[in-house]
Amino acid sequence: MTATPPLPSARERAVFCNRTLNLRAIGAIGYDMDYTLVHYRVAEWEAAAFEHARQLLARQGWPVDGLRFDPAAMIQGLIVDTELGNLLKVNRFGYTVRGVHGARPLEFDEQRRLYGHVAVDHRQPRFAILSTLFSLSLASLYAHAVGLFDQHRLPGVTSYADLLHRVRCAVDDVHHQGALKAEILAHTDRLIDPDPEISLALLDQRDAGKKLLLITNSEWSYTRQIMGQAFDRHLPAGTGWRDLFDVVIVSARKPEFFTSQSPLFEVVDEEQGLLRPASGALEQGRVYHGGNASLVENKLGLGGDQILFVGDHFFGDVHATKSGLRWRTALIVRELEQEIDAVAGFAPRQAELTALMARKESLEHRHCELRLALQRAQSGRAKRTRSDLDRARREIGALRMQIEALDDQIGPLAKAAGELSNPHWGLLMRAGTDKSYLAFLIERFADLYTARVSNFALATPFRYFRAARVPLPHDGAGDDGEPAS
Ligand SMILES: [Mg+2]
Repeated sequence: MTATPPLPSARERAVFCNRTLNLRAIGAIGYDMDYTLVHYRVAEWEAAAFEHARQLLARQGWPVDGLRFDPAAMIQGLIVDTELGNLLKVNRFGYTVRGVHGARPLEFDEQRRLYGHVAVDHRQPRFAILSTLFSLSLASLYAHAVGLFDQHRLPGVTSYADLLHRVRCAVDDVHHQGALKAEILAHTDRLIDPDPEISLALLDQRDAGKKLLLITNSEWSYTRQIMGQAFDRHLPAGTGWRDLFDVVIVSARKPEFFTSQSPLFEVVDEEQGLLRPASGALEQGRVYHGGNASLVENKLGLGGDQILFVGDHFFGDVHATKSGLRWRTALIVRELEQEIDAVAGFAPRQAELTALMARKESLEHRHCELRLALQRAQSGRAKRTRSDLDRARREIGALRMQIEALDDQIGPLAKAAGELSNPHWGLLMRAGTDKSYLAFLIERFADLYTARVSNFALATPFRYFRAARVPLPHDGAGDDGEPAS
């Protein structure tokens, strides 16, 4: 008898639900392009962006020769402290769990001194959150630049905040300049990570009666080339990526797209990119430029809760969408695949760690009881014989030794748990045993989240996503099937 081949992990391909959403009630689905419909190989793409930005800063006189991009050095969701020049990983309460200054990790005592009384909040001007895969080159370049600034090798730079502004401008400039885009377009096979199943997901949704929209900040010339490269080869002969969408909107300027009243133009000459003001209904097959979300709602005749927007940029695609118009939202978080894999692989050691922690808690509780008994005896509130007290002291000593021995076992396991997925920062969605700050924002603003758009093909266009019952610390093991944590 032959063994049944293992099925791929269903969790990696799942669409996760924060807020109940019935896809059958959705009339239109809008998609972002970069890192949503088109996934780039992050290490290569960000290395190219880093290198172009490095060259730009070198031309401005910065001593950045020889700097190289390390794809593992940063993760998305880190927060820059522009007052002290540190990059921080923060939990959902704003408590800093890890940090670096330049290339140097913050020591535990230093971190506690600097951030023990600071609730980090990305809405304060002091802090800036780096929340996309495009931020990895920025974070990496900033960390290098902090080292140079500390050595007084960047004349004219006045502060860590000024430093971030200058590095951000350099990275933004190369994103908008032709050289980086030309390099990407010349090496699409190397830089685009293809996913043929996305076309299937979109065709399923269209056949189920959804209107499909592409809403990208990229300009038309780049969009048409990248979409052509990513999709056309996976579509039936005689059809192209344009056939997937009812409406294409380029140069959308998200997140302002969701809040502004910017006018909509139609691209009338697709070769030259010539524009004219758009009037009347959105016409199938046409390409539009700019515009705004309420205009799209009106032209489609749909309410905000009938439109789902799918994107990878927390602030560009999801936060503003949710804050302003209440469109339904789905966030693409590609790192989830790696995180789910890493957590699954660690499960036996996590079980060991959990058991050791439970044992430690039990010993600590007994230790506390004995200390209280001694304290009460000393204050005269409880009568104990001398031998009772001696026995209690001996037990306390033995408990301390047992707890220390447990700590020796717990330490390496806890360290390994903190290095899952990324040796410097750990998991994107977790900070210690808690949710990361990014996970907290995703929970708040993304109705759904998943690793890739093609997972909607597995979910089907008819899926009723129901939010899971959220366990609370006081829930018992029988309340939700999970032990209280
Ligand atoms: Mg994007």
